[in-house]
Amino acid sequence: MPELVEVEVARRLLDAQTAGATLLQIVPGAGTIVAGLDVRVEGVPIRRWVRKGKLLGAPLGVESAEQPWLLCHLGMTGKWVSDLGRKHERARLETSQGAVAFVDPRRFGWLRVASAAEARAAWSAIGPDAWHEPLSPDGLFDALSRRHGPLKQVLMDQRLIGGLGNIAVVDITFMAGLHPHRPASRCSLSDCAALVGATRRHLERLFALHADGEITYLSEGGESPGLVYGKDGSPCPRCGATLVLERLQGRPTVYCGGCQRP
Ligand SMILES: [Zn+2]
Repeated sequence: MPELVEVEVARRLLDAQTAGATLLQIVPGAGTIVAGLDVRVEGVPIRRWVRKGKLLGAPLGVESAEQPWLLCHLGMTGKWVSDLGRKHERARLETSQGAVAFVDPRRFGWLRVASAAEARAAWSAIGPDAWHEPLSPDGLFDALSRRHGPLKQVLMDQRLIGGLGNIAVVDITFMAGLHPHRPASRCSLSDCAALVGATRRHLERLFALHADGEITYLSEGGESPGLVYGKDGSPCPRCGATLVLERLQGRPTVYCGGCQRP
């Protein structure tokens, strides 16, 4: 499942291959997930690709408050590739610099030509990006103090922080020594400082892991990128107790009952 780092890898590929190029055609593939093609965008330049949380966007044409955007979400299994004609290719961007393809076996991802107003609304629905705009310990404390759900669920709320998914939050709560089921509002300022530091270390580690090359999702047989995610039944790397697997809101949650404080 794509999280912040996978989406950033996609952004870098799109930016390297298409920023500054003229968009020639958006070609929907089989089982298409492309919308908004009634807006004429052929022949306009793709300015750059940006990311907020798990949302990708590219302003099109001359910079103005009314310029259309391309928006893309990778869904559960989406990725952008520069080799064309792969299985599950759902869309292709043909540009003056060549073409890139969106591949998505499970079809939860999407690509859309959006009006400026739609793009602004989609962008502002996402909280500060976990990498570019990290909350301070005080800011996180303030946000968590008003939330009563379990810490893990609250940290995955994209309106609060953009980009943290299930794998990230399992590892971040582990590194911070906090039980994922703890009520968010019961986190102290020092807990929040631990969460902020753990978030940065988690993202730095995954960026180093995916420095180059294509992302391989777990569903494609990739290895778990997690410190403890996917390691249930193994000894905790910190205290040696056996890591436990539970489901929280239907999502697999791995934690150590020995050193993650409820
Ligand atoms: Zn432990």
